Parts: sequence; C-alpha cells; structure tokens
Amino acid sequence: MNEYDSNRIYDLASKKGFEKTNNFEETDCYVLNTCHIREKSTEKVYSDIGRLKKNFLNKKKPYVLVTGCVAQAENEVMLKREPYIDAVVGPQSYQELSQIFSSFEKRKKNNFTDFDVVKKFDTLNKIKNSISKVSSFVTIQEGCDKFCSFCVVPYTRGQEFSRNPKDIIREAKELVKNGVREITLLGQNVNAYNFTENKKKSRLSDLIFELDEIRNLKRVRYTTSHPNDMTKDLIDCYKYSKKLMPFLHLPVQSGSNIILKKMNRRHTREEYLDVIQNLMEVNPKMSFSSDFIVGYPEETSRDFDETISLINEVKFINSYSFIFSPRPGTPAAKMKILNKKIQQKRLIILQDLLEKIKNYKNKNEVGKINEVLVENKMKNQNNYFSRNKSSTPVIIEEASETDVGKLVNVKIKKYNRNSLFGTVIRSNKVGEAA
Ligand code: SAM
Ligand code: SF4
Repeated sequence: MNEYDSNRIYDLASKKGFEKTNNFEETDCYVLNTCHIREKSTEKVYSDIGRLKKNFLNKKKPYVLVTGCVAQAENEVMLKREPYIDAVVGPQSYQELSQIFSSFEKRKKNNFTDFDVVKKFDTLNKIKNSISKVSSFVTIQEGCDKFCSFCVVPYTRGQEFSRNPKDIIREAKELVKNGVREITLLGQNVNAYNFTENKKKSRLSDLIFELDEIRNLKRVRYTTSHPNDMTKDLIDCYKYSKKLMPFLHLPVQSGSNIILKKMNRRHTREEYLDVIQNLMEVNPKMSFSSDFIVGYPEETSRDFDETISLINEVKFINSYSFIFSPRPGTPAAKMKILNKKIQQKRLIILQDLLEKIKNYKNKNEVGKINEVLVENKMKNQNNYFSRNKSSTPVIIEEASETDVGKLVNVKIKKYNRNSLFGTVIRSNKVGEAA
C-alpha cells in the first residue's frame, strides 16, 4: 500500500510542479514514506534523516516530510526529537499535501495526523493516477476494525473505510489506458470491502466482476485478506471470474488454536482450513501464500509444531514470516516476550520448511508450460521479467519489447529458489498453465 501511496503523493506533488529526482543534491523536498508494522522503522527514519543532513551540510536545507504510519504513530515526538523534519503527515491526511506542496515555506502547522479518510480520497480522486507499470495497485479499502492483539493498523490507519466503486472502476480504466494490464486491489483488510449507496451494496466480488469487463485488463488480484471475510460470493469468483488469478494470499499467523485465540484472530485453525478446502473445491488449480508470526508471547513448542503441521498441510507456495515485534499501544506489547534465541530458532525451522516447499513446487514446473504476463525488460540483461498465475517470477529469454503487457506461454526450463526460467512458445498450442 505504501508503494501505491507514494505514487499518489508524487501525483499530488507533480500537480504543483515538482519532478522526481534521483539526485540527492538537487532535492527541494524530501518525502520519507514510512511503515510502522514492525519495529526498527522509526529508527530508520532518524538514520535516513541523519544521512540527509550530512548531504546538505552548508547547503539550503530541503523541506522534509515524514508521511505514513510512523508519522501517524509518533507525530509530536518525532517533531521534537528531530527538528530537521518540517512536517509529519499521517496516512489519512494526504489531502493536506496539495496545500503543503504549494506553500511549504509559509506554513506554521506541521502535524497533520487527523483521520479524514473521506476527504483524502475526495482529493485523490480528482487527480489522475499516473501509474503505468504493467502490474499496478489500486487501493479500494483502508483501515481495520478487527484489532488483532499484535497489530498497529487499527491505530495508524484507523477504522475500515471502503472507496466508492465508481471511483475505483474509473481509476482502474485510467490505469489500463496508461498501459496497466494487471491490477491488484489493495486494502489492509481488502475482503472486508463493503460500500453501500442508495441501499445498493457493493462487495469485493462485485468489483471483481466489474473489472472482468474492462477491455485490455488481463489479470486481477487482491491483497490482503482476512480468513473470516472469505464469503461464498468471493470464493465463487474463483470459479466464475474471467480475470481473477487462482492464487490467494491468506494470512493465518499461527496454526495453533491457543495462539490464534491469544492473537484475537477470531477464527480457528479448522475454520482456516475449511476456507482453503472450499476454494480448492471451486478451483482445484488454486495456490496459496500466507503470513506467519513466530515466537508470539506464550507460544509453546507444541503451538509452534501446529504451525509447522498447518504449513505441511496447505503447502503454501510462497509466504512471509516474521518474529513477533511488540508494537507500542497494542495488547500483545504488554505480554512477556519469548526468549530471542527460541524465536530465532523457530523462525529458521519455519523458513526452511517454506523454502523446501517452494523449491519443490518450482521444480515441479520444469518442463511445463506457464501462461505469464510480461512486465518489463530486466536491467542490464536481455531477459524479460514476468509472473505466472500464482505470481511466481518467470524470467524469459527470447522475448521482445512487443511482448511487454501481453500474456504469453513459456516453457519452463529451470528454476531457483525465487524464480522459474523459460522460453516463449510462439505456436498457438495452449499447454498446461500454472
Ligand atoms: N490484514 C492482514 C491479516 O489479517 O492477516 C494482515 C496485514 S498486516 C499489515 C501484514 C502482516 O504483518 C501480518 O499478516 C503479520 O504477519 C505481520 N505483522 C503485523 N503485526 C506484527 C507484529 N507485531 N509482529 C510481527 N509481525 C507482524
Ligand atoms: Fe492487523 Fe490484519 Fe488483524 Fe486488521 S486483521 S488488526 S490489519 S492483522
């Protein structure tokens, strides 16, 4: 979501005459967009600003903005600790940025951390989205009402808010005109998307079917979902939608019911596995990835073994795993932290298993034909970057610039831990696609 937000911040700045630069020295305004989901991000802000200060020693100081969830969480503390920062702007106050960019020298106020998400999207909706990457994001939902015990999102992004579907579809069409061919719908809790106007309800499944109708849009994905919001209408999309990819990132965090309860996840291991089974029934080609928190307070080796057994059961194709990070203000931050060595040992075991499964799945693709969407020519190489249906990177030889933005069939020849490698099949033969 920060990638999407950064781009929208750029759109607001460019309206006021700013241009992107990679040259530190000529920067007039420096925007540091931040994430607060795990610790260290706050300290990274201060060390980045330290580097910036050195660069601008004896030169005119650039205007320094800290945006995103660290700005939201730290606000006044940050402004006091680092006077080099001119303003902090929380993620639900980006509507203020237009004004900030027009008159930053004259501004007195420097703390913009209100939760005015409606006004924010009203402002952003009026500004054309300039993204033109083949695979791009569209935020459809923000915030979260679930309050998992470990998570800062409900405090930094605020309550659940769903954008008007008309604005979403308009933005999606705009992106397709820019050259975008795959859209990933974004939300902290994307499948809780729920918009009602004149008694007409719109859910994520409705959006997916509307996107299906956009000519030249080839693929649709969404992230990140909560298992409890995997409703039947959404599951059925995996059978009836023409463009929704048969791949789902569905965070589970832990395989132990005891830990899931302590995390306030509001679902059990069995309920999670039921969702996976229901999805497999509507589309046997589905594959899954997940998020895991390792070393949660009071996690026993038995709890950890249950997570391992869940991974073995679902065989996730790709996943993210993190050691529990206490976030100030969340209920879990008050719990006793597990021994660091135990946490690290468990993380290694879990990541080794995830890696083994990923390797096995990649190996299994060798010799098969994958349908991929070609995204771009790779830097300093003649190869092209693409992704198959389950989002695995596929590096292709013998592609050309005219393949960019197109779906092509690739014969997989080899693999490594992260990617598949293959060549384009130019015949009309349609093979077994991953
Ligand atoms: N909404 C999604 C869900 O319900 O699972 C998750 C979104 S969260 C922004 C992304 C991931 O960050 C989580 O799935 C979790 O694994 C990880 N995460 C969040 N808080 C964390 C914490 N305090 N310590 C470690 N990992 C954390
Ligand atoms: Fe955080 Fe996701 Fe839980 Fe919401 S549902 S509190 S975003 S982990």
